[in-house]
Amino acid sequence: MSPREPRRLLVIEDESHIAAGLKLNLSLEGFAVDVAATAREAGQYLARPHGYAAIVLDVMLPDLDGFEFCQRLRESGNFTPVIMLTARRAPEDRVRGLEAGADDYLVKPFELSELLARVRSLLRRRQWENADESRAPASPAQLEFGRVRVDFDSHRVTVGDRSVELTRLELDLLRYFADHPGRVLERKELLEKVWRLRDCANTRTVDNFVLRLRKHFEPDPSAPVHFLSVRGSGYRFCPVPSPA
Ligand code: CA
Repeated sequence: MSPREPRRLLVIEDESHIAAGLKLNLSLEGFAVDVAATAREAGQYLARPHGYAAIVLDVMLPDLDGFEFCQRLRESGNFTPVIMLTARRAPEDRVRGLEAGADDYLVKPFELSELLARVRSLLRRRQWENADESRAPASPAQLEFGRVRVDFDSHRVTVGDRSVELTRLELDLLRYFADHPGRVLERKELLEKVWRLRDCANTRTVDNFVLRLRKHFEPDPSAPVHFLSVRGSGYRFCPVPSPA
């Protein structure tokens, strides 16, 4: 994301007057705001390549509850900060929300000023976590290995003459591999640098995404030559396969 673009938030809320109030007030704070009234619609927004700085998620949605939504989001490898909204005061809901992967929790009715403060604090926290990364040198915009050609600026990816659609996170992971060819990358490092998570134990996410890259790009995904497992450590990207 370019620093000139306003930070983008996704509000997932089916009560239209609350959604409109949130959109207005967050826009006045300088955010670009998309509003989804259902989990399904939210999924469509989240499939777009631009990504979100944070998500405001109502627990009571018509098609899926917010806990389930958040859990699926995390399982898909998306770790955008989530603030959950609920009318329920039950403390077990708070625990459930946090267990589902939410970062913060607000009980309805809430003061807008409190929501704004929570959003800002969440973004500050994430910005602090990302500080190391923003000092990293810019990486090349193109990558070629085997029959694969990647243009990171235009998101154009081809294998031979077949074009491949990658999700934003798949592309981010591929880019991180491309920036560190031949180096053993630990799962923990990948979670920090690609998913921007510190102290996260959910390393299965990394494994699932590496499997996806292999499926896209390995001539034989069951016998990888580019995205190699390093036993007990993590993964190594080899643009040029080493002779067996
Ligand atoms: Ca609702």
